[in-house]
Amino acid sequence: MARAEITTPEVIADDSVVELSLRPQRLAEFIGQRKAKNNLRIAIDAALGRREALDHILFSGPPGLGKTTLAELVARELGVNIRTTSGPALEKPADLVGPLTNLRQGDILFIDEIHRLRAVIEEFLYPAMEDYRIDIRLSEGPKAQTITMQIEPFTLIGATTRSGLLTPPMRARFGITERLDFYPVEDLEEIVIRSATVLKVPIDRAGAVELARRSRGTPRVANRLLRRVRDYAQVEADGAITSAVAASALELLEVDEFGLDDMDGRILRTIIEKWNGGPAGLGAIAAAIGEDEVTIEEVYEPFLVQNGFLQRTARGRVATPHAYRHLGLALPPSGAPQASLF
Ligand code: ADP
Repeated sequence: MARAEITTPEVIADDSVVELSLRPQRLAEFIGQRKAKNNLRIAIDAALGRREALDHILFSGPPGLGKTTLAELVARELGVNIRTTSGPALEKPADLVGPLTNLRQGDILFIDEIHRLRAVIEEFLYPAMEDYRIDIRLSEGPKAQTITMQIEPFTLIGATTRSGLLTPPMRARFGITERLDFYPVEDLEEIVIRSATVLKVPIDRAGAVELARRSRGTPRVANRLLRRVRDYAQVEADGAITSAVAASALELLEVDEFGLDDMDGRILRTIIEKWNGGPAGLGAIAAAIGEDEVTIEEVYEPFLVQNGFLQRTARGRVATPHAYRHLGLALPPSGAPQASLF
């Protein structure tokens, strides 16, 4: 498990304090995602100029690309408070009454994993989003009384790793939607250098490139690798991260030159070895490798698909010839079930 943690783009407890200190403090310090940043800058300036609450914003994209960071930056740039919750944490509309009624004019409510909101909560949010109004039911049943309360104009920022799972009425209520993409190596290089400066670790350009190339396009992974490589540099070298130090540390951590780790390798190898390259169903793959379906789908697959190692087809997941080559495996003879899909 320890190995998989290294590049799994999810927050783990011990890292969260460092993670906080690595968060950019101003929108201008947020590296990359230029389109999203420009759109936000304009929307923020316009809202400040009109002294109005900003439109509701939806951020989508794989984990670790900066959705939470951007939400916090928007709050900071607007000079308002931000309250944070998440889809799965909200069980009933009453859970939102406190947070919504406590919001002051222009404040932000951030809901992570918004695609996992229960239907009753979504319905409760619609009038809040549209008319800054909430309907509170005083009892249960068909004759239940409701009272309506006005709340302050606020901004809802939703983040989702699965925008396709958001219901159309919910999606329609966001005035601004920004999709974050995996970062190019040059942007990750800047992020690594910035984080190294914050952590006071000496690193040269070549060392930063080496880390950036293997970070699966994801700032959270880049920061995590940087911390692990920093440990290695301290113990096995003179503390500075050069390309050679980074390469040997990453080899030890079993992160290969594309940034694929142990779990990526297991997913691809399982499809190839158990299903002759696929197609294989997500549930079957999850059972075979003992990993959760949602984690495979949201954390591992987007990068594997984007980089041409895996295809999602109507009949299941298929390992591509690129995956075979990468793992050093021979392609099955032509005529095998998956060949027609290439
Ligand atoms: P998400 O909410 O999309 O899962 P986060 O906002 O939690 O991602 O970002 C994960 C980490 O990556 C944060 O600690 C932050 O420091 C770093 N990070 C993300 N995007 C950037 C960026 N563009 N520039 C610098 N650091 C970033």
